[in-house]
Amino acid sequence: MKHSGTTGRIGRINRMLQIRPPLQASTTKYAQQLRRGFRWLRFDAPLEAEYRAYSHSDEYVRVLWFSALCLLLWGGYGLFDLWRIDAARLGAGQQPLLTALRVTRVAVTVAIALVLVGALWRAPMRWLHGALMGLGVALSCGAAFAVYAYKVFGVPHETAVLVMIMLGLFSPFAINLWAQLAMAALYLACVGALAWVAPQPEVQAQMLRLGVELALAALVFSFAAYWREHQRREQFLYRGDAHWLAMRDALTGLYNRRMFNHHLEQVMAQARREGQPLALLIVDVDHFKAYNDLHGHPQGDAVLQQVAQVGLACIGRPLDIAARVGGEEFAVLLYGSSAEHARALGQSLVAGVRQRALAHGASPVADVVTVSVGGAMVQPEDRPQTLFARADRVLYQAKNNGRDRCHWEAALQA
Ligand code: GH3
Ligand code: MG
Ligand code: MG
Repeated sequence: MKHSGTTGRIGRINRMLQIRPPLQASTTKYAQQLRRGFRWLRFDAPLEAEYRAYSHSDEYVRVLWFSALCLLLWGGYGLFDLWRIDAARLGAGQQPLLTALRVTRVAVTVAIALVLVGALWRAPMRWLHGALMGLGVALSCGAAFAVYAYKVFGVPHETAVLVMIMLGLFSPFAINLWAQLAMAALYLACVGALAWVAPQPEVQAQMLRLGVELALAALVFSFAAYWREHQRREQFLYRGDAHWLAMRDALTGLYNRRMFNHHLEQVMAQARREGQPLALLIVDVDHFKAYNDLHGHPQGDAVLQQVAQVGLACIGRPLDIAARVGGEEFAVLLYGSSAEHARALGQSLVAGVRQRALAHGASPVADVVTVSVGGAMVQPEDRPQTLFARADRVLYQAKNNGRDRCHWEAALQA
């Protein structure tokens, strides 16, 4: 098979980097995005929002730990300064710089504390991300300024400062790579400005060297940050795909039998606790074998998708679900819905499928696709199996009575 240029190139890059191949058979939005790729670390709009919600889920705890660590490092570093820099030994000309250094220390400490408090109080993640970026710039530029001041004072400084700069610029958060690169650029501009204003030429040269060294380090860190985010996104897509497939029916997108059983059990317990009514409708396509035989299986699949859409249109409340529970069998569960309302919905489901006017050339019932519906209300002594069995029995009454209709249990038939 001939690949288009881009697909071929991405395939080669993927093979080189040993990226797992996307799930070929799956058609979920996750698998489709995996196949399309996301070189620029961005998904299509709705998926991007879902990814952000996912990646922010444990973010508060991480921000909390990160800001506490920063406070410890930065605070410890500041205390060390108090002991190390002898203000009395500095000339009068150096006093303003010492004051500026102290102000910087306090300002950065306040910035860290603000992020810490924001994380503790669960400030909106949008704000917290902005604050984190500000903190990254404050930490790295503050540390660069401290290095500058040491050099001007002639006080030795250690490379621990550089660790702080990197921590500020490339902390492991959901701040995306582009924001991190913007922070690195801001930092380099700050070092450049310090080199520009440096009084001694040797300090100027040292600041420029520091800038170049850290720019190179930033390059390596950005590569790591790119792959970290790429892998996190990839993991999200694989996880989403597996999760979706475990819960859904691939053809119709409705919940599958397993999920239906699980949900039925939960919702029956809740209905019992809250004294709420619960209705179950079982929907079966009439003469569907004959439809497949005449119109073909793919066309039959399209019919199932249409019936699923009609079923979906019936549900509205949060605990209602529509599921595909067998080949051409569907179930609709209505929570808190009165018997009359559920019955009306069953009728409108039958009418809705008819209105789709899907030609059925082999049905003795009508010249379009029709469905039969059996409905039952949950009773206090019901278990999931007994409720399902009762609705199923009523469905077969509807079949025997001519199909293309909705039947209810005897209690409701009057
Ligand atoms: P009745 O009116 O009594 O319900 O008759 P029926 O032919 O609909 O029922 P039967 O149980 O005999 O046949 C069900 C058919 O549904 C047989 C099978 O080929 C078809 N079927 C099951 N799953 C699928 C599917 O995923 N796609 C398609 N196209 N057909 C399916
Ligand atoms: Mg059937
Ligand atoms: Mg059928």
